[in-house]
Amino acid sequence: MSSEPRATVHLSHIVANWRTLAGLNPKADTAAVVKANAYGLGAERVSAALAAAGCETFFVAYPEEGAIVRKAVGAKPAIFVLNGPASSTMHLFHANALTAVLNSDAQIRLWADAANLPCALHFDTGMNRLGLPASALETEGDALRALKPVLVMSHLACADTPDHAMNAAQLGAFSEIAAAFPGVPASLANSAGCYLGRDYGFQLTRPGIALYGGSTPPARVQIEHAVTLEAEILSVFPVKAGETVGYGATFTAKQDMLLATVGLGYADGILRSASNCFIGWLDGTPCPVTGRVTMDLITIDVSKAQRAAKAGRRVEFLGPHAKLEDQAARANTLGYELLTGIGTRVERLYP
Ligand SMILES: *Cc1c(COP(=O)(O)O)cnc(C)c1O
Repeated sequence: MSSEPRATVHLSHIVANWRTLAGLNPKADTAAVVKANAYGLGAERVSAALAAAGCETFFVAYPEEGAIVRKAVGAKPAIFVLNGPASSTMHLFHANALTAVLNSDAQIRLWADAANLPCALHFDTGMNRLGLPASALETEGDALRALKPVLVMSHLACADTPDHAMNAAQLGAFSEIAAAFPGVPASLANSAGCYLGRDYGFQLTRPGIALYGGSTPPARVQIEHAVTLEAEILSVFPVKAGETVGYGATFTAKQDMLLATVGLGYADGILRSASNCFIGWLDGTPCPVTGRVTMDLITIDVSKAQRAAKAGRRVEFLGPHAKLEDQAARANTLGYELLTGIGTRVERLYP
């Protein structure tokens, strides 16, 4: 087995998380967002596992991602492409039976001229990122309905802040839009939106990050970790009180301590902002990062885990102890960025 860092992907936990999210909105269908290589964990394996568990709708960002998912899930599931079509990618929609999410007048024209595949309409209800303005319904409502969309959707800007006034405002705006498309399924909720209550569920929810163990669910919801990221100890050595560690000498030992150097760095997705704040777990004992993260190496304080501190032992940086959002918060980021940043050098294992 390689001594390079490894990410063990727990497909059964991802499936369990999908079922948990589905249970929150039993009247709605639950899709799976598998863009960005399933948030770094492997779109093929993740999509295949979810399709086998009964997931019938997938979302990706690009048609190239859709082609990979189509191979993994077979002919039946719907695959929506969030960023929509371009003239240069129309052939991918046809070849892989992908459903375009239409976000602009230009995309609508392109689709109306060239495609006879199903489409979704994305309305912007306050995120101001992507989507048609609600006013498009007044100016071109009949033309939009003539596209026979199979889904109307919008995206929440503040779902991770349940009390934020934006949530109710977007719910109200989107409810009016959905009502203008009678009989067409509607979708508003991302992962955090699934926790806001059943009003937000409509006919389809679109969780991503929660499938992969991220977001901060309410206490009543149990989300499992989806990946264990580990790397090997290369060397173990003592430092004396007053000595410093690493580039820039940003860590000073307050007392004599035992350090271990681990084969993991920013080339593997451990952000430099994790310097002096990330924690590695060795044998269940938290071992704080000392000094700066470097490209391939990180140094941790193993003073409290001396017996386990041996070259070749693996240290956990994400997993059952190193919880994704806790670890992300230490490095001043989010689970999304940590997961999608896991480097290509890190071997993905699917036990
Ligand atoms: C990425 C994305 C999602 C999934 O969001 P999570 O916060 O990861 O659950 C849903 N809808 C749209 C439009 C997205 O871009």
